[in-house]
Amino acid sequence: MYFGADYYPEHWPPERWATDARLMKEGNLNVVRVAEFAWVELEPVEGQYDFSWLDESIDTLAKEGIKVIMGTPTATPPKWLVDRHPGILMQDRKGQVRGFGSRRHYCYNDPTYREYTKRIVGEMARHYADNPQIIAWQIDNEFGCQDTGQCYCEDCLTAFKQWLKAKYGSLKALNETWGTVFWSQTYTDWDEIILPTYTVCEDSDPNLHGHSPGLLLDAFDYNKLLLEYYKAIVNNGYTTDATGIDSSLAKYKLVIMPAFNLMKDDIRQRLENYVAQGGTLILSFRSGTKEWSNAMTEETLPGLFRNLVGVEVEEFDSLNHGRTVPVTGAFGHGTASIWCDILKPQGAQVLARYSGDFYCGEAAVTVNSFGKGKVYYIGCDLDRTSMKVLMQHVAGSAGIVPPISPIVPGVEVVKKEKDDEKPYLMVLNHNATPAVLTLDDSYTDLISGKKTKEVLSLEPYAVAMLVK
Ligand SMILES: [Zn+2]
Repeated sequence: MYFGADYYPEHWPPERWATDARLMKEGNLNVVRVAEFAWVELEPVEGQYDFSWLDESIDTLAKEGIKVIMGTPTATPPKWLVDRHPGILMQDRKGQVRGFGSRRHYCYNDPTYREYTKRIVGEMARHYADNPQIIAWQIDNEFGCQDTGQCYCEDCLTAFKQWLKAKYGSLKALNETWGTVFWSQTYTDWDEIILPTYTVCEDSDPNLHGHSPGLLLDAFDYNKLLLEYYKAIVNNGYTTDATGIDSSLAKYKLVIMPAFNLMKDDIRQRLENYVAQGGTLILSFRSGTKEWSNAMTEETLPGLFRNLVGVEVEEFDSLNHGRTVPVTGAFGHGTASIWCDILKPQGAQVLARYSGDFYCGEAAVTVNSFGKGKVYYIGCDLDRTSMKVLMQHVAGSAGIVPPISPIVPGVEVVKKEKDDEKPYLMVLNHNATPAVLTLDDSYTDLISGKKTKEVLSLEPYAVAMLVK
């Protein structure tokens, strides 16, 4: 097994490297990742490469048995390169150039940047190809971090136009799919195409993004919503997984798809099969609101999900300016603070209703039986406590039990099962204090080698790998 960390020998005087390597060995590290930000050290002058210092550092590590993952330094084009070719720098949504002085300050589509990366990576590959100390290569570092996933420069616009031509074939098809007739946004020439940059509406109302529907993002923070669902599951001690919509869902007892708004018929078909066979599905507000092309659906919401959820969305209300709406139901009394769908059940059973505002008494959360399974529709966001109770209710009725009970706050337990092997329990104490867990049986901790009866004591931040 490899156990390691990132290491920047270029940050330290060479006399220090032997000490670093010895300390790593003492800490049971056997691999480090190097060089990912060291472009200027490896190519101090254009076309002149210096690998001597890195060779020496790798030799020093080798003496302590530490292997290397070689990072290409492409995340940090050096100052000399940027000064010579300022077009490398990326532009943000407001058209401002993001300057030198950090990292990831380049446009992915810039041909000059690509040419220079090809050169340095080629040199590195030639130099290190046969070095037995190198066990793997890392290509670039942390794609998209610090909001560098999208660039809005001329190169990107050109590439975007080419991609659109290949995708839609004609402007007529593009206009129809994007619904550009809205606010007179129809394009009459390919040269008129823009990137989805900053527009008038964004300053006037943060809840309204004023682009053609084809370029629209939804008004709320999707990642935040996803995190709320994730927290509710994890805080109940359930084991989770994240997967793509194209993978098989048959092995999951419960599938959660919050605000799944782009929808198409083959996904509907697959989800209906999954639930009909006994699966449980959770959908939320903003589900099925759009076609796969991102144009608004003409169907009554939740669009293609309607059959599954047994509900129609009669109206919705986007909450803002700190307004909250009380909701009462299966989880007790809670509040919504982002969004409220007003639901008309068409066969579904009501689990919670709004207890305030003009839609007081209307359905907020429902459950529908579909084949052998169930579909929950959660028409609003909920405060963290209510969300946790609701997820407990849903998971409980889907036959899901946490790997240990009672759960201990701040202790993560993940059950891993593979084919016919015995299941493993990975236990991580994220607390700065000791933790005590009650187990259902006797286990062996593969890390300490100790047998544990029905009680497991963990030191602060300790990890155990249990097998029966
Ligand atoms: Zn760009």
